[in-house]
Amino acid sequence: MAHAIHLKNNKYRQWVKAGLGLGYLKEGLAPFCDDIGKQQHNDIINQIQQTKTPQPNVPCSTCQITTLQPDHVRVSKGICPLKQDKCNCCFTNNKKPCPNNVCGAIYDSIIQYHASIPPAPFWKNSDVQQWSTEPWQVCKCFINAPGYKDKISADDTDCTGLIHVIINNKYFHSHIGCNVTGPNNLFSKVRLYRNEIFHSSNMELEESKANSYIDDMIVVLQDSKELVHRQDAQQAVGKLQDLKKKGFIITTEDFEDILRQIKDEMAKVLKSTENAATKSEEEYEDLKNRLTELKAQMSEAEKKHLELKRKFTVLETEQKEEIKRLMVEDSPQQNQLEYEKVKSGMFYRI
Ligand SMILES: [Zn+2]
Ligand SMILES: [Zn+2]
Repeated sequence: MAHAIHLKNNKYRQWVKAGLGLGYLKEGLAPFCDDIGKQQHNDIINQIQQTKTPQPNVPCSTCQITTLQPDHVRVSKGICPLKQDKCNCCFTNNKKPCPNNVCGAIYDSIIQYHASIPPAPFWKNSDVQQWSTEPWQVCKCFINAPGYKDKISADDTDCTGLIHVIINNKYFHSHIGCNVTGPNNLFSKVRLYRNEIFHSSNMELEESKANSYIDDMIVVLQDSKELVHRQDAQQAVGKLQDLKKKGFIITTEDFEDILRQIKDEMAKVLKSTENAATKSEEEYEDLKNRLTELKAQMSEAEKKHLELKRKFTVLETEQKEEIKRLMVEDSPQQNQLEYEKVKSGMFYRI
């Protein structure tokens, strides 16, 4: 029995496809980022415990970014030896050392691992009180965009955030074959896709464009150094390849995933507008426009979602009747087999 719903607008279908692709890209990158982040955290804490006197006392849950005194000291007035702009080493009046002798050293490590020139950790995304115990709080300092403060794990972080960590954190570079800081590298290109897809007000995409986004996501997940050897990353590649097949299926869960991603994106843009005091008029206007677009997208997606849900209920009723019929008419073994077939047909083909 064929339950096929065809959405007429192919460009919308392609947009949904690309949106789902972003979710698979995240799924493929998150376990890798989680593993490498934990290794780095382990290395940082071990190094601190082996080299510092008096003996550091892990965990520390008392320090704050606004008052933390780093381990390193300024060279002279306003000159940071690690070259960080507005470094805590240069604003000394209200700074105090970590009472457990650990957070100042973690602060230094994060700056030293930061890949930009000059190094620019994004402290606001992170909670210093969890630095000594939560690897992801350290990793989040490498996400150079607001809106990640409440993200507690790699799995909780979108693909843009994960790629930021890979590009901006030097520790990750030895685990990636691509030169992620080189000009026109693929990771930097793919990092922009989430914005490009979710900030398009008409929710439409050309098929060729959607396919080229997905192809690039696949190449990222097939990075020669480690990702290509990881089962989780290659499972995500399989899902991305399925998306490219004609007649790929979309479930109600997929729609919920897209809605969740747009909501998440809206929260991030809202966060940026909240911090708009430091932004120029032009940037502020741009943020406001993006938010309006996302809101329009959200209500459009919700409308489409409801419409599909309604159709799904109709299908479900039909299927239940079909199942009942099979239970009565056929043999028990046959029933189970047919039942599974019918059950697996409960999805949309759009
Ligand atoms: Zn400094
Ligand atoms: Zn501390």
